Amino acid sequence: MRAVVCGAGIAGLTLAWHLERAGWDVELVERAGSFRDDGYMIDFYGPGAEVAARMGLSERLRELRYEVNELGYVDGDGRTTSRLTLPPGAYGVTSLLRGDLARAVADRVRSPVRYGLTVDAVEQGSGGVRVLLSDGTWRDADLLVGADGVHSRVRELVFGPRERFVRYLGHHVAAYSLDDEELSRRVGVRYRMLTVPGMMAGAYALRGGRLAMLFLHREPDPAWPAAPAAALRERYGHLGWILPRVLPHCPDPPELYYDQVSQVEMDAWSRGRVVLLGDACQAVSLFAGHGASLAMAAARVLAEELTGGGPDVPGGGLLADVPAASARYEARMRGPVARVQRFGRRFVKWMAPPSRGRIAARDWLLRLAALPGAGRLLAGRLGPGGHELFSASPRAPGSWPER
Ligand SMILES: Cc1cc2nc3c(=O)[nH]c(=O)nc-3n(C[C@H](O)[C@H](O)[C@H](O)COP(=O)(O)OP(=O)(O)OC[C@H]3O[C@@H](n4cnc5c(N)ncnc54)[C@H](O)[C@@H]3O)c2cc1C
Repeated sequence: MRAVVCGAGIAGLTLAWHLERAGWDVELVERAGSFRDDGYMIDFYGPGAEVAARMGLSERLRELRYEVNELGYVDGDGRTTSRLTLPPGAYGVTSLLRGDLARAVADRVRSPVRYGLTVDAVEQGSGGVRVLLSDGTWRDADLLVGADGVHSRVRELVFGPRERFVRYLGHHVAAYSLDDEELSRRVGVRYRMLTVPGMMAGAYALRGGRLAMLFLHREPDPAWPAAPAAALRERYGHLGWILPRVLPHCPDPPELYYDQVSQVEMDAWSRGRVVLLGDACQAVSLFAGHGASLAMAAARVLAEELTGGGPDVPGGGLLADVPAASARYEARMRGPVARVQRFGRRFVKWMAPPSRGRIAARDWLLRLAALPGAGRLLAGRLGPGGHELFSASPRAPGSWPER
């Protein structure tokens, strides 16, 4: 069996790992010119962590993880206004850079990745799918997977324009990292955030004297600014704290990660021999904080269904009925994805609260979460199984989507 996977992100790479072990011939097509190790700190737990463990990645992820021992909010003078101390290994959450997680998976994948290419056309017949790549060459395959993220090209070619599926959540997000040994030491292994109504800037120290920055703000217009770095400097430059020092180092895309915050909702995730995977069909947004984990879970479930493999050994079935396998994959994943998406929408008002009143309420909740046992209680009230601010049971959100 032969698969073309468009997109070598966390979802596409995880699927490739599983399919090649089942004897499939896999080729990945990636738009970026080289491996993308940019990104932000993610909280990794739940079904994705289970998949990583089954892939033998737990040890590597333990080496790569960051210890976060405190979440705290600061004012423009850098004074802490509220904080939550986290016990070591709090609630089973592993803090990882997105790029480190993707690299850990990529290091185990043997299938070729064709960088600097995308899919330009798709033709389906009774016996297979023909894929035209942007270098003008064709591939004949049994399966085409669109694992090319929220702005998926495969989705656009096969299912229709993005406006039909992408739900904009009213915010823009940006992230980059910079070298600054002194600031990195000062911020330390604490996640520090500054919020004013409708805006949030966060910082976290990385290894090697680096600092990771994350920006989130309300914006009714989903369109990107023409010059994202300059727009960020203008919007955040006057807010104080460490921002006047870090913003002059803000790069332009692609080094700067910049995007609108969206979810993707579709009636069907597959059409014939074309299947969507990860953010392309199920994006939950950073408000849900569970996208990488769900992307890995979905890749595993799709591989199980395509290969007839069991929970621990995908493989054996080289003669997959692609449409039937895709329907079973979708049936298993839809429930967990919908739950996490609903949670994400409920959380929209908390990360960059729209008013001073809501910022005060958030600080009050954070203080409450610091009380013994309260983190878990709040998680039960506010989430499908917890958000990184409050708690995160490793198995809770949708736990493992069984057959
Ligand atoms: C700021 C932020 C914070 C987040 N925090 C968390 C968190 O705490 N926990 C968590 O679990 N998740 C988090 N997420 C979500 C998580 O990063 C994504 O949900 C997850 O990485 C999805 O993986 P993916 O492979 O489906 O998509 P992507 O990571 O978007 O990968 C898609 C790949 O396809 C490539 N591509 C795109 N277009 C094309 C094309 N036309 N042709 C070929 N290739 C293409 C891209 O270059 C990329 O390599 C966060 C997201 C953001 C934005």
